[in-house]
Amino acid sequence: MYRYGYGGMMFDYTYVLVLIGAVLCMLASAMVRSTYSKYARVRSMSGMTGAQVATEILRRNGINDVAVVHVPGDLSDHFDPRNNTVNLSDSTYGSTSVAAIGVAAHECGHVMQHHTGYVPIKIRSALVPAANIGSKIGLPIIILGLIIGMTPLAKIGIWVFSIAVAFQLVTLPVEFDASHRALVMLEEYGILAHDENAQARKVLTAAALTYVAAAASSILQLLRLVLIVNGNRSNRR
Ligand SMILES: [Zn+2]
Repeated sequence: MYRYGYGGMMFDYTYVLVLIGAVLCMLASAMVRSTYSKYARVRSMSGMTGAQVATEILRRNGINDVAVVHVPGDLSDHFDPRNNTVNLSDSTYGSTSVAAIGVAAHECGHVMQHHTGYVPIKIRSALVPAANIGSKIGLPIIILGLIIGMTPLAKIGIWVFSIAVAFQLVTLPVEFDASHRALVMLEEYGILAHDENAQARKVLTAAALTYVAAAASSILQLLRLVLIVNGNRSNRR
């Protein structure tokens, strides 16, 4: 019991998996920040701001029910389908850099996904409530199952936690597709020149890697929980 007890759970060998996940996330985050800051200093030839680019992309696609708004923060850009707003952060909204234009176009890529009924974003949206619950109560259920010695309860906790992992996985095609749509539109509408487009691609690829790292980290965490629950069962046999 000393190895898999509640206190021991924090220090057993499977904790290495959690540490690997944390390191991956830190590396990805450092990479996106350095790539972003590099291309945030490259002003685009068109001289358009992130907000102007988003507005132009929406106009070209005949989308007039989505507003482009300014939100505080750094790299907090997102499209909110609940109130149909493209939210651009301090570093994107008024900036004419290649990085800002890439991010603004990426958020419009999400608008286009909703507009065209792209299936992975529908699945992702449908998973949001369950994933929120799964990430909050999955682990407590597992710990409770281990404490009171009920392996079936711990296993239910693993399934609940898995919903949060599934959400992270379905986020990947959604993010890569939004970036792909963004780069195609920026080139097609003549907003970025060909070499600028390659720079925007670097920024968006680095941003996508943070989602890859987050997904890898949650898979590692799931693997760890499975190992603990299975180890606990064989320990008691
Ligand atoms: Zn995105």
